[in-house]
Amino acid sequence: MAKTQKTSSHLVPPAKTELLLKKYKIPYTKQAVAGTEEQAVAHAKKLGFPVVMKIISPQVVHKSDAGGVVTDVAQENVAPTFHTLIKQVKRRNPKAQIHGVLLQQQASGRELIVGAKHDPTFGPVLMVGLGGIFVEVLKDVAFRLIPPEKKDVKTMIRELEGYPLLHGVRGERSIHFPSLESTLLKVSNLFSREKIQELDINPLFASPKGVTAADVRIIV
Ligand code: ADP
Ligand code: MG
Repeated sequence: MAKTQKTSSHLVPPAKTELLLKKYKIPYTKQAVAGTEEQAVAHAKKLGFPVVMKIISPQVVHKSDAGGVVTDVAQENVAPTFHTLIKQVKRRNPKAQIHGVLLQQQASGRELIVGAKHDPTFGPVLMVGLGGIFVEVLKDVAFRLIPPEKKDVKTMIRELEGYPLLHGVRGERSIHFPSLESTLLKVSNLFSREKIQELDINPLFASPKGVTAADVRIIV
């Protein structure tokens, strides 16, 4: 009997995602996984306040749509938020398995998106864009073939309609472009070397000091 070929794609769990980013030196917001309220409180103290708390569940891909993300959590709210998050997600999807709650340092800056995927026509491609309404409404994104050269990542950033915003408007400071450029090259490098179907960083926070990924989805 011929074997049926199964090609199933799945989401890489948070701990493994963190290791992969570390291996390629892609900056990732400091984080820790809590299985209990007590662990959540202890982790939050180490991370510093406010923290961001997120549900970890293989069934929940879009966490905020499922009530699975709370930002700006103060010390006294960590324990109650731990339970609220689980309750909210369970209410919307009673079958969701909860693997814990992720606590992160709260980042600030411009929200960007960075992605890599296999395009059916072009092959491996790298993407960068401005997050929020820029990507959802204006589709303000730029693509390059993987692996890009340093000059390619510079020009792809400049192609964005929202590029002036990254430079800072009305007295704001410019984001740190060298960090963004090197992160794009590292993402391309990770994608070329690991067996990955798709990688999405949304958001990558960009500030005058540097960049940091706050939400990373890797599909293998
Ligand atoms: P999802 O995309 O699954 O809904 P995210 O982890 O991207 O979940 O969180 C949703 C939103 O919450 C982000 O787009 C961002 O605006 C905010 N956010 C997430 N993590 C952080 C963080 N570490 N610091 C500050 N804001 C965050
Ligand atoms: Mg996200």
